[in-house]
Amino acid sequence: MTVRVRYAPSPTGLQHIGGVRTALFNYLFARAQGGAFVLRIEDTDQERYSEEALEDIYATFEWLGIVWDEGPDRGGPYGPYFQSQRLARYHEAVQTLLDAGKAYECFCSAERLAGLRSEGARDGVLGYDRRCRDLTEEQRAAYRAEGVTPVVRLKVPEQGAASFEDMLLGTVKRKYKDLSPDPIILKSDGFPTYHLANVVDDHEMAISHVLRAQEWLSSTPLHILLYEAFGFEPPRYCHLPFVTGKDGQKLSKRHGATSVVEFRKQGYLPEALTNYIALLGWSYDDSREFFALNELERLFSVEKLNKAPAVFDYKKLEWFNGNYIRECSSERLFELMRPYLETAGLLPAGNETREAAIVRNAVPLVQERLKLLSEAPELLKFLLAEITENYAAEELIPKKMDAAAAKALLNAVRPVVAAMEHYDDEQLEAEFRRLAEQHDTKLGNVMMPLRVAITGSRTSPPLIGSLRLLGTERALARIDAAIAKL
Ligand code: GLU
Repeated sequence: MTVRVRYAPSPTGLQHIGGVRTALFNYLFARAQGGAFVLRIEDTDQERYSEEALEDIYATFEWLGIVWDEGPDRGGPYGPYFQSQRLARYHEAVQTLLDAGKAYECFCSAERLAGLRSEGARDGVLGYDRRCRDLTEEQRAAYRAEGVTPVVRLKVPEQGAASFEDMLLGTVKRKYKDLSPDPIILKSDGFPTYHLANVVDDHEMAISHVLRAQEWLSSTPLHILLYEAFGFEPPRYCHLPFVTGKDGQKLSKRHGATSVVEFRKQGYLPEALTNYIALLGWSYDDSREFFALNELERLFSVEKLNKAPAVFDYKKLEWFNGNYIRECSSERLFELMRPYLETAGLLPAGNETREAAIVRNAVPLVQERLKLLSEAPELLKFLLAEITENYAAEELIPKKMDAAAAKALLNAVRPVVAAMEHYDDEQLEAEFRRLAEQHDTKLGNVMMPLRVAITGSRTSPPLIGSLRLLGTERALARIDAAIAKL
């Protein structure tokens, strides 16, 4: 069997972790099986359609390096890939169901349906009361003469059940009487509903496997019923485990960023995201965690999916990101940090500037501690701008000391810094230790005022490396400015 899978987003909002996980697993499944991965845009909800959301689909996957073989922007033998351009096919499909008596026109007014809904909510009754299910041809003609445009509903049998083998969950069976009676498949504006369009397209696009989030599991019995009504062979389904926050609740904005643009802005690398997202419900074995995309393309398999909900751990993702940052070449990391430094006004455009040279030199210093690219301005600011105005004098004073003591420490440290060219890093640290002993205090208490004087912050890149990047002259000027502040 040729494997053909699809990602079928509705362009109504920004791409989020859940959607990207679905897309990624379909993509990986296609690659691992030598099949085709299709992008289909499910834009039948005209009210919620957003151009920005469509752009975001393209931008997100381009950034992540996930490419489809067929799609609206690439073409392919099963196009068009926008559902809004396939209306004629849906109408044809609906007509075959009407002709076969498997669907019917419903003329009920919006008011009547709203009334049914509120009564139903009160009495715990599900859905439509099937009033139009058995209208005569005369009754239908009368409605039409009044100018009422009908919707089309699918006849859900009162007996029997829909059942299918889910690749992950096993046998799923649902009695027809437990489905919402007679769902609309064609709206009065001529647009299909999700269920109809999804089934018709999966069939016409020869989709062999549907990997989708478990949120859709409740729709699948209805889809199975539609396949039966059409006489089509359904694809194989695999409903992917839920993604939750640490509290076990479905991942949402309450937990933190969920859209890929947000993660991108915060300075995550695409490879860190794809690696981490691949582990949301899938694992290769008990130990291996790092996978490049091209490795996943070989190693992914449905057999290794987990049924249990996948917990999205922001800290873990950050840790992955730090690891990927450390793997970058210096030049790539420089380029990755550039937009953040430019936006912060620290780095002018252009490659040959003095600032660009400073940042290039500083890459090894920050590479070890950067977890997010957005931290770069904070860590590098001290090299690119004056910082003495940015901190309060109190910052220079170690715990249980006073201004006079901090001043004395800075005065003592000054000649060591003045001579730092003559020491290697180890010797320089030994000098600081010696000073600490002399002043009967901890090394940290010597380093702390110096760190603030040099970098403007108590947390900074490694101090000795920072001193060297800044150079003797600027370092001494900053020590003097700090002393003056005290
Ligand atoms: N358009 C649906 C979505 O937005 C597709 C669901 C499916 O994969 O069947 O997720």
